[in-house]
Amino acid sequence: MDRLALLRYAWIMEHTSKRPSEHVHDVAVIGMGPAGAQAAISAWHQGRDVLVLDAGEVSQRKGRAYWTKSVAIEDIPFLAPITGPRLRAQVQERLRSLAPKGGDSRGVTLRGAYVLHVARAAEGFAIDASTEPLRGGEIVARETFLARTLVVASGFEDGWPDIERDPNGRRMLERYRTVFRYAGNQSGWHLCIRCDGHLHFGQHFVLLGVGEEIYEAALGAQDFTRRITILTNGRPAGLPPAVLAQARERDIQIDTRRIARHIGKGTRLEGVEFEDGEQLMADGFLADEGLEPNTAFLAAFTLQRTPEGLLRVGENGEALRPDGTQEPGLYIAGDLVAGARKLVAAAAASGQDAGLAASDALRSWRYPE
Ligand SMILES: Cc1cc2nc3c(=O)[nH]c(=O)nc-3n(C[C@H](O)[C@H](O)[C@H](O)COP(=O)(O)OP(=O)(O)OC[C@H]3O[C@@H](n4cnc5c(N)ncnc54)[C@H](O)[C@@H]3O)c2cc1C
Repeated sequence: MDRLALLRYAWIMEHTSKRPSEHVHDVAVIGMGPAGAQAAISAWHQGRDVLVLDAGEVSQRKGRAYWTKSVAIEDIPFLAPITGPRLRAQVQERLRSLAPKGGDSRGVTLRGAYVLHVARAAEGFAIDASTEPLRGGEIVARETFLARTLVVASGFEDGWPDIERDPNGRRMLERYRTVFRYAGNQSGWHLCIRCDGHLHFGQHFVLLGVGEEIYEAALGAQDFTRRITILTNGRPAGLPPAVLAQARERDIQIDTRRIARHIGKGTRLEGVEFEDGEQLMADGFLADEGLEPNTAFLAAFTLQRTPEGLLRVGENGEALRPDGTQEPGLYIAGDLVAGARKLVAAAAASGQDAGLAASDALRSWRYPE
């Protein structure tokens, strides 16, 4: 994956013109989700000149919380229940209000930018990004930003069910148009059992996926209901005998038939139809089809990762090399962190650690040895 990302980047470098920036920011943050926003505010609060680069302004990558669409996030004590899109708008407004004023460089500069590549530079990091929406799928504006330290909080993209997928669609939005119609509603495709399981107390709940991950989600679903069905959409379940035995004991149905289409009204998903024409109706649906970390731009760095590509970090989000040493000045926060809870408050907490550590790394003197 790293090599492909580098080749893609080389092509982009050759085919677009870029405007270099002279200004070196204290801390750059990639991503304006809960983790990135908190990292930025924490570093700003220590008097730093912070740059936030966020893809949501120039592309469809708007962060995971955005997929809550019409379902409010309600498990954060200091926030009234709020949908993902509204949360995003609020965070954006707050960051914009912290823009540097007068001749003071202290502040938060928010830029719409899809980061393409990060490299080491004399100052710390050089960050190449596409800074306008693509036109006809092509990059039309590119800029390079400089920063002494870097917090990566770009999250990941969820995998989506392979049902009524349009293989000819160029963009994700086109390929999964039908799936997306039913995503993020009270009665549609959910992606996080801890986030949305409460919407289906005592109801029939369908989980789509294979292997350990989908059974983990089924274990979570038992907090809300005992009526659970696992669909694999034409794939072997990939579950060991002990798990299959427990599923039988708990009356969890596992159906491996391929799904032909959704059954729904408007944006409300009500069931699925299998290829043999039989239909299965349910009240709630959750897909766990893996994830893709938004880290292709880190191809120049060899970092410790899990098999699915999440990043292993030190105590304060320090990015780690394979030998266990820290990659100087580079911090990771939020859902991207291996073992993270993948919830808003946890993402913000790790953003705070990373933002403060990035800021502390800029201090010029330390406690004497
Ligand atoms: C449907 C759904 C419901 C959820 N409900 C809840 C809930 O009720 N409660 C709860 O606590 N959590 C909930 N979550 C989880 C929560 O949304 C995530 O844990 C949280 O958003 C993770 O924050 P993050 O900052 O790590 O990443 P994200 O929120 O994913 O933000 C990543 C940011 O990085 C940007 N980005 C990506 N790639 C690039 C790039 N190349 N260049 C520049 N920027 C980039 C994106 O634009 C985005 O703004 C839910 C998640 C989903 C999907």
